[in-house]
Amino acid sequence: MYLIINCPTCAKIIMANTANKTKTCPHCGAKVPIYGSKILARTEDVQEATAIIQHLKQRENKDSSTVTFKKFKA
Ligand SMILES: [Zn+2]
Repeated sequence: MYLIINCPTCAKIIMANTANKTKTCPHCGAKVPIYGSKILARTEDVQEATAIIQHLKQRENKDSSTVTFKKFKA
């Protein structure tokens, strides 16, 4: 399964495979503990995960004042 999480260090959206316990953030290089992070969405499908990330990033761009995740409609 894939989790969409926020990096606790840089707050960017990253995708993590639950086969691993940690994910290295591609943005800031932090080692992110997957289950200690804020989970924005989860899916079995890597393509869906990519689509969710794009959707969330578009939201971020619109809400330029904050990157806080509010709600996600699949
Ligand atoms: Zn990061």
